[in-house]
Amino acid sequence: MYSSWRVSELKAELTKRGASLRGRKAELVERLELYDRNFNFGSAENQSDDDAMEVPDVRTYRDINATSLLPHLTQTHIRQYFCFDDKKIKEAKALYESRYLVLARVSNVGENTFIKGYCKKTMKQLQYEVNLKLHKSGIPQESNCECPAGSGTEAKCKHVAVLLHGVEHMVHNKILLLHQVCTQKLQDFHMPKTRFTSSPIAAHQLPRNKAKKRFCPFPIQKVDYI
Ligand SMILES: [Zn+2]
Repeated sequence: MYSSWRVSELKAELTKRGASLRGRKAELVERLELYDRNFNFGSAENQSDDDAMEVPDVRTYRDINATSLLPHLTQTHIRQYFCFDDKKIKEAKALYESRYLVLARVSNVGENTFIKGYCKKTMKQLQYEVNLKLHKSGIPQESNCECPAGSGTEAKCKHVAVLLHGVEHMVHNKILLLHQVCTQKLQDFHMPKTRFTSSPIAAHQLPRNKAKKRFCPFPIQKVDYI
């Protein structure tokens, strides 16, 4: 299709997509076809923002504490949102209890509550940003996560589930389990990791080394007296 275009038109099209203009006409045509096949290599100006979740300004968010206004989110809401995938919910709960949630902030806009959280990646020291939109009745409406599975407005990855568990725990118990650095934890290096359970042995029952032969620096010489 592009081969019938003029070079100036090809160059104009390539400039629009932020591509290089170098090379002969055949190369320009090939490059344009490549850009078509690869959705413009995800360049920012051509990416559609339709699937991005709308979140309020970062400055309106406040850290979640006992006085925060949170919608009445329940376990049933979480299970419904995750289509009763109990295995995933259980895994996320275990992650939340292992303090994988780093931070959670809330912003109330009209009837909706937006929650922004950071969840640690399971295998690496990285964090994913998770955004949640909850209705005032507690029903999760939209969710989005930075992880590969969390794009769009209906992300149902484990990070979203971890944040939902955190909010649910805060609503019902007024406690939020967050990640702790080593100085926030009580010292435990003086605690024995394993307990010695067998009975002690009396000293006279200890195995003894056999009496060692006395060391003599001179070789033993046999002298024949005739
Ligand atoms: Zn995720």
